[in-house]
Amino acid sequence: MNNKMIYLDNNATTKVDKKVVDEMMPYFEEEYANPSSMYDFSKKASKAIKESREMMKEFFNAKTSNEIIFTSCGSESANTAIRGLLETEKNKKHIITTKVEHPCVLNVFKYYEKQGYKVDYIGVNSNGELDLAELQEKVDKDTALVATMWANNETGVIFPVQKISEIVKSKNPETKLFVDAVQVAGKIDIDVQTANIDMLGVSGHKFHAPKGVGALYVKSGTLLNPLIIGGHQERGKRAGTENVPYIVGIAKAAELAKESLKYEATEIKRLRDKLETNIVKNICNAKLNTSISNRVPNTTNIGFEYIEGELILLHLSDIGICASSGSACTSGSLEPSHVLRAMGTPFTALHGSIRFSLSRFTTEEEIDYVIEKLPPIIEKLNNISPYQDEINALKNLKH
Ligand code: PLP
Repeated sequence: MNNKMIYLDNNATTKVDKKVVDEMMPYFEEEYANPSSMYDFSKKASKAIKESREMMKEFFNAKTSNEIIFTSCGSESANTAIRGLLETEKNKKHIITTKVEHPCVLNVFKYYEKQGYKVDYIGVNSNGELDLAELQEKVDKDTALVATMWANNETGVIFPVQKISEIVKSKNPETKLFVDAVQVAGKIDIDVQTANIDMLGVSGHKFHAPKGVGALYVKSGTLLNPLIIGGHQERGKRAGTENVPYIVGIAKAAELAKESLKYEATEIKRLRDKLETNIVKNICNAKLNTSISNRVPNTTNIGFEYIEGELILLHLSDIGICASSGSACTSGSLEPSHVLRAMGTPFTALHGSIRFSLSRFTTEEEIDYVIEKLPPIIEKLNNISPYQDEINALKNLKH
């Protein structure tokens, strides 16, 4: 049994920051009142929600805190935005998204396609960058909504959302833009006003808040039907008694995330770059699935040609290293990643691709451990691969 645990799967979920836990605790044990109640005891809970909404407003640079809806996760944020909007927009039947979205967007679009909507899925190039010309071509007077991620969960590639907004709005000022910002929260700055975004969703557990809480920004004046119908909570946009401790938690996590953006951009990026540079240098059949600099600072996705990703993960797990192949939702299935397929990643690397994702808790010692331990694992798997000639050719090429 290996006692070491090196967690490099922060795009799947993150450790809850102790400071977040401390902030949440009083709302479990002492201030547990229903924030909608009339008595004084509920005042602290309702004040906590008000302050948390204000903090999320700051995090997104929204205009007012009324533009913030608390949800339960990133998937709920996306569903609330997309389905809520389309419920109010019954005439326009054209919607656009990208081929590399998370299933919480992609499968909603597939659902609407089955309902008779015309859906366009915009492609990406081999580096994972969005085809902006294709987007420009597709938006028309019938387009109700464009939904795009800000950064991809598997590759970390950042999409130029401000440019995307300009393209969308110049073709049709009435088309709404939803941005899935789940993988940028805590990694790069979010500014919904500068980027001119109508709706934007995040998920707490991706930036050191607990699982079970998310947030959605909806620009004032954007009509949205609620997904969960019931009480008046969240200004009628999301019924259900507010999850006060978790709302306090995501707001605290957002505050901490904003404070650590510089550290992410410098130190975490340095560690990520060290990891990927060393792996590619030392392992003959390792190659970056995307090398562009416009990536979130914590993510690298590396293809190990001619070997199986699942086997690499099992060997890494044996020595305490947590990484992933594809996204958390697709790993466990043997289907190769839809993101890498959309990028045209060669089939030789498709099944052997591994994502390492760091966080502000990742240390240099941990990165050095992976750099030391990974090459012998790959060497072992190379030796049992049926593609010996191909691997030898790559060996000769690198030396
Ligand atoms: N969007 C992206 C880009 C994600 O990476 C994820 C989770 O991996 C989600 C949405 C869904 O978030 P949640 O698990 O909180 O529903």
